[in-house]
Amino acid sequence: MIQMLRCPKCYSALTIASQVMCDSCKQVYFVHDGVLFLTDAATSDPRSPTEFMTYDLKDFLQNKRIFGKTITSGVDYAVKEHSLHIFPDKMLSAIGPLCAGKHILDVGSGASPYLSTSISKHKPASYTALDAQFELLRVGRKNSGGGGGENHFVKYDLACALPVFDNSVDVLLCMEVLEHVDTPQKLLADLFRILKPGGVALISIPNVAIYLYPHKLLRCILSIAKSMVFLNFKKARQTFQDYKKHISPETCWQEALEWHPGLRPKIFRRWLTDAGFSIQRHNTLVYYAVDGDPIYKLAKWLENHSFNVASLYRKFINTVNNFMFAGYPVFKWAGIRQFAICKK
Ligand SMILES: [Zn+2]
Repeated sequence: MIQMLRCPKCYSALTIASQVMCDSCKQVYFVHDGVLFLTDAATSDPRSPTEFMTYDLKDFLQNKRIFGKTITSGVDYAVKEHSLHIFPDKMLSAIGPLCAGKHILDVGSGASPYLSTSISKHKPASYTALDAQFELLRVGRKNSGGGGGENHFVKYDLACALPVFDNSVDVLLCMEVLEHVDTPQKLLADLFRILKPGGVALISIPNVAIYLYPHKLLRCILSIAKSMVFLNFKKARQTFQDYKKHISPETCWQEALEWHPGLRPKIFRRWLTDAGFSIQRHNTLVYYAVDGDPIYKLAKWLENHSFNVASLYRKFINTVNNFMFAGYPVFKWAGIRQFAICKK
């Protein structure tokens, strides 16, 4: 029995026997491969890359194969491994101990990467994954060892009101989801509704700093300068306007969804407090080395010249992330991902 779930049509409790049925309106919801379908429509997020459909964390870490490709470069493996681990490890080390004996809801769970890496070891009372994509839920269920016990996997369209009772969730995860939905502030308000008073929410979104890194900022400045030299002021102006949109996606959200918007930390904080949350902690992380990053290029160059730099490079990115996570003022907002731990 999944206590926190309610019928999306009439908001009544659901009874689970050989099938799942609403107590009140008698709507039947079917279960396929262990995944409960609380949606009729075949919804999926058109903005999610298709390669993530078959994404398997354990498989990658064991076989060094990702998206069907074998990773032989030590530097590339260090980056991928790091980017898969650092996010859940850093963030959930703060929230993990709070999961013990609690009911966890993972909204926009994808393939539940945080379940096996961070949540399971704290023995939650239940873990429920909610996502629009059946294939991802299926991978998450497989990684969790078949979804036995109190792990539940539910297919649902996040554009609709969440099929969850008010004040029913102890610990809420919503990781890298807001930048995929049409009405993020509506989703935040709904997250606040379902969280128990005193409950904790861990919410993350890309940080606008992605667009302020030198290799992006310089490209923009050079492009404007070039247009000016050729007296093409219209193009220079357009480049500037486009750049302004990237650093203020909240003013053009529908358009911004195409490029996976990163919010300014100030705006993210405002959205959270507007939804009712009180922010306990707010940090950023570099998360992974970006293509075009000079240090990454240097490590690759050294590797191509027969130097074994992979472990050194791994230490480097770990150090940078630890530094930022500590929240020193200068680095605090320089990461490319930001997250907040909130309370109701
Ligand atoms: Zn119903």
